[in-house]
Amino acid sequence: MQIIDTHTHLYHEAFDNDQKKVIDRAMAVGINHFFIPSIDSSYVDRMYTLEKSFPDQIHLMAGLHPCYVKENYAEELDKVAAQLKSRTFFAIGEIGIDLYWDNTFLNYQKEAFSIQIQWAKQYRLPIVIHCREAFDEIFEILEQHKSSTLSGIFHCFTGSLKQAERAINLNFKLGIGGVVTFKNGKIDQFLHKLPLESIVLETDAPYLSPTPHRGKRNESSYITLILDKIASCYQCSRDELASLTTKNAMEVFKIDNFKIKK
Ligand SMILES: [Zn+2]
Repeated sequence: MQIIDTHTHLYHEAFDNDQKKVIDRAMAVGINHFFIPSIDSSYVDRMYTLEKSFPDQIHLMAGLHPCYVKENYAEELDKVAAQLKSRTFFAIGEIGIDLYWDNTFLNYQKEAFSIQIQWAKQYRLPIVIHCREAFDEIFEILEQHKSSTLSGIFHCFTGSLKQAERAINLNFKLGIGGVVTFKNGKIDQFLHKLPLESIVLETDAPYLSPTPHRGKRNESSYITLILDKIASCYQCSRDELASLTTKNAMEVFKIDNFKIKK
């Protein structure tokens, strides 16, 4: 069985003491490819080091996370622009709007999101969207930039059925993670109404651990708990779900078997 974790922060401090073991455990359950979202410039060196250690498995994104958009966002964006110019990435992410923690910088968040979407179109890269209590704002901006060349993933999708359908209509896939296993997570109740072609798997490690690890550090190997839950929602086998979501992930990141080996 081959599984892709489309969203995991393996370079995070939470893995400083056992990063290799965490990756070994993930590979033991069948994850051969990890897509690594960016946060801000302070993490970039860690991301490059991780990639060097596991060049065949680790696939990096570049981007400025909305929770890290502050007064200095223009400087931060310059650094992302320089990264994009200097080498290849698999996506621009994670980018978007987060109004859950703080809305002080909403206008900056919108601006940073728009600019990074334009870069994605320019470089023909998918985007990985972080959306928290901000569906209206995000959809408004996506509509403005709507194009056949713009696609990507709504990472950690936790919206309604209507919002899911709207995202899919805009050419996006839904990243389903630990929340699907939560008692009050809600998405498990309508997931089966969405086409399986629109679903990709993710952990968002070290955050959002699936049940029964909820509240503790998450790691990529826990993706099997997410896989099992989604398979039960769709009443399909885990093998079937693994291979279909792997295919979906490869499609959204525009990679084929040859290219992913680098
Ligand atoms: Zn994330």
